[in-house]
Amino acid sequence: MVSDIVIIGGGASGIMAAIAASKKGALVTLIEKEERLGRKVYITGKGRCNLTNACDTADYFENVLKNPRFLYSSVYGFCADDMMKMLEENGCPVKMERGGRVFPVSDRSQDVLSCLERILNKNKVKILKKTKVSGILRRALDDDTFKYKAEGVFLENGEKISSDAVIVCTGGVSYAATGSDGNFFGQLSGLGHSIIPLHPGLVPFVIKEEYPARMQGLSLKNVSVSLKCGKKKFKAGPGEMIFTHFGLSGPLILSLSSDYSRNFGGVSSQLDTDNSIKKNYYDSLKKDNDFGHHESAYVKGEEAILCIDLKPAVSAGELEERLYREIDGNKNKSFSNILSPFLPGQLREVFPDMVNIAGDKKANSITKEERKKITEYMKALPFTVCGTRDFNEAIITLGGINVKEVDPGSMGSKIVKGLFLAGELLDIDAYTGGFNLQAAWSTGYAAGSAAAQI
Ligand SMILES: Cc1cc2nc3c(=O)[nH]c(=O)nc-3n(C[C@H](O)[C@H](O)[C@H](O)COP(=O)(O)OP(=O)(O)OC[C@H]3O[C@@H](n4cnc5c(N)ncnc54)[C@H](O)[C@@H]3O)c2cc1C
Repeated sequence: MVSDIVIIGGGASGIMAAIAASKKGALVTLIEKEERLGRKVYITGKGRCNLTNACDTADYFENVLKNPRFLYSSVYGFCADDMMKMLEENGCPVKMERGGRVFPVSDRSQDVLSCLERILNKNKVKILKKTKVSGILRRALDDDTFKYKAEGVFLENGEKISSDAVIVCTGGVSYAATGSDGNFFGQLSGLGHSIIPLHPGLVPFVIKEEYPARMQGLSLKNVSVSLKCGKKKFKAGPGEMIFTHFGLSGPLILSLSSDYSRNFGGVSSQLDTDNSIKKNYYDSLKKDNDFGHHESAYVKGEEAILCIDLKPAVSAGELEERLYREIDGNKNKSFSNILSPFLPGQLREVFPDMVNIAGDKKANSITKEERKKITEYMKALPFTVCGTRDFNEAIITLGGINVKEVDPGSMGSKIVKGLFLAGELLDIDAYTGGFNLQAAWSTGYAAGSAAAQI
């Protein structure tokens, strides 16, 4: 079979690359190994698909943690407004929510996918589902710039598809059951691309102490968190978080987790010396097939101390003053009861153990030192982070193809002529809020447009 452009991976970036290339008149074949396109897009935003963020394009880059500059050209080339317009014009109206988060009006991610698939069909993109690409057809070049020329792909079933250009959009390794299981990193590494170590990103923390388990399900709003390990300190908030049976989760925690994983996380590069994916680890990822609703393994990292400021709007001095007044006015109440105006129920039960003061201790016998300690803990409730949940519970993958080896305008490989790379397989990552999908749409669009012109 012959095609102008072959795209490997029918997720967010692959679909968009196919739309952009076909719009320019190229004959495009989009290959997806799962039975449906966009299985990961389907589960985004808890099934509602937070498809982009309507912030100013200049502000977009503030929300990209790794390699924001690399994204300048592609995001300005196809920004959030372009994405919203594309969906609106093709029968999928969108709406904006808190923090500029954009969703389909229907709150159904399937409607975003159906809309994009309609555009693919309209543009006559050939879609091969349940078809796995095993490798890239290449020719060695006697060239100072490029090592190889990509000339198509070969499939797991033995067939070959020749093409002028190949776009790889195989994603990261998180939520492997959606299809993005890292199987193509080994191929790219074999072609000469380097891979920045992979870590779970936007992922819950595993906590050493048993306190979170005792407060499982308790959600705290308007708190701030800080994380300290050695000399490094990271902060997030105010915002929301939740205690779980293994530790801490919720938006604030996910935001901090990327800093933790990158700096102190335990899983490093999954590539061994002969450039194939470390089999055991990936086999274990592939065992799970239920989108992460299972007991995930935990990724051990360096120990770090995470502190929750339960009252970020109040200074320590003011808080101690309030506590003093509460104690003074309720001398015969127990310590646990004194905590009522300050802490929610489940936390009131655990807090006395954390500060090591008996819950039934009479208020009038609380010492000045104890009052100081109570205030200190309310301003910085400490937990020991010993790692994160693994890739199966990570929203994104940190690390990936080194962007120094990719042209930021075209997404073209600087090592293999005719090869383009887009989406989460690149070493880019952003906060939650629609920023990661926008990176996939933008890089996919840039790759598709450029590949159609070679
Ligand atoms: C639970 C969850 C919720 C999320 N929510 C949001 C959100 O609301 N907003 C947001 O911005 N981001 C969200 N994200 C992140 C976002 O979904 C990803 O960043 C984005 O999907 C990445 O797109 P991609 O095209 O690079 O990869 P993917 O969407 O992962 O697509 C890669 C595709 O390649 C296919 N593939 C892999 N290897 C082969 C092969 N050899 N042959 C053929 N096909 C292959 C895979 O099957 C897969 O379909 C969420 C992620 C998760 C896990």
